[in-house]
Amino acid sequence: MSYLQRAQELYEQMVTDRRYLHQHPEVGMDLPETTEHVMRRLTEMGYQPRRLGQGVTATVTGNPEGKVFLLRADMDALPMEEKSGLPFASRRSCAHTCGHDMHTAMLLGAAQLLKEREGELNGTVKLMFQPGEEVLSGAKSMVEAGILEHPHVDAAMGAHMIPMIPVGFGGYGTGVVSASSDHLVIKIEGKGGHGAHPHTAVDPINIGVHIHLALQELISREVDPMETVVLTFGKFQGGEAANIIPSSVVMEGTLRTFNEELRTRLLERIRTVCTHTAQAFQGSAQVTDLYSVCALNIDEDTAQSAARGWQEEGLKMIRRGDKMSGSEDFSEVAAHVPYTFFVMGGGTAEDGCGVGLHSPEIRFREEALIYGAATYASGAAAWLREH
Ligand SMILES: [Zn+2]
Ligand SMILES: [Zn+2]
Repeated sequence: MSYLQRAQELYEQMVTDRRYLHQHPEVGMDLPETTEHVMRRLTEMGYQPRRLGQGVTATVTGNPEGKVFLLRADMDALPMEEKSGLPFASRRSCAHTCGHDMHTAMLLGAAQLLKEREGELNGTVKLMFQPGEEVLSGAKSMVEAGILEHPHVDAAMGAHMIPMIPVGFGGYGTGVVSASSDHLVIKIEGKGGHGAHPHTAVDPINIGVHIHLALQELISREVDPMETVVLTFGKFQGGEAANIIPSSVVMEGTLRTFNEELRTRLLERIRTVCTHTAQAFQGSAQVTDLYSVCALNIDEDTAQSAARGWQEEGLKMIRRGDKMSGSEDFSEVAAHVPYTFFVMGGGTAEDGCGVGLHSPEIRFREEALIYGAATYASGAAAWLREH
């Protein structure tokens, strides 16, 4: 029986897992109910899971002399209300609107597929269930906690649900496929005062406005037009009343690039522009990089090896040449091991799944769990067979 056929039989169990996770969403790095569920389910399958950092890991080994392939799922939700109208919708102030409940349920499905055919594996599959993808800290923290060692990981694979693609279809790319992301916080200090006496104060709102304009011009005037860069400030806060000059202002934004060299240069230029602009108006500015991840840079050999496994299974995985300006904190694993990444179709508008990730109305067709589990398992098995 193929992984795909067996995954079809596991469908109901995966739906049960997914709906439990969906109804119990948790945000950020601390996911007590979610990790408890993952620990329990892995134990039921015969694994000996352990907590690592704030995530969960477990291994399944066929040939102990073979290499180690890591499969990763993220488990965290978003701090927003759900408006999907589903009977199992979240009633909490957070919700699984990025599909990480699907990822966790499909990796649990893959865990069972791999455990049942343990003897056939030419090496070890290590499972990585990580917290904090949305806060871009989870993968980094598990790498620091040692997920890539004991046993040492040789290659890895991650995945993400993608809306508005038919169920049963997925995709993968090679090279740089997703953007780097830097969450920047700019704190501007001026000197508060009476709105009628601006000359006795230093107006941080004025400084902030100049900084905002200068930073946008940095993109239009200093970046090669053939490059893709986004710099968005989605938060600009300061002041309490019309006639009071506040003492400080905070701006928060995100920088996305597909080129590490450009990213490094822009981060440096952003700092220079902020501090010098603030100084020019007699204030000061401090730039902090709150969360950051590098671009997702797929390894050709790892991608092709997993893809051959998918082909044998009859999975409809299409090689894509496009990039996305979203980011993935799994790219932190790439700094250490070659890896690949796939996306899984979650249903089309005709299926009632016509809105994007992070939308409060998002829905996925749960049949995607079957294909996701088979894609994880067969990709890992194929890579181990070839290496
Ligand atoms: Zn997300
Ligand atoms: Zn996500």
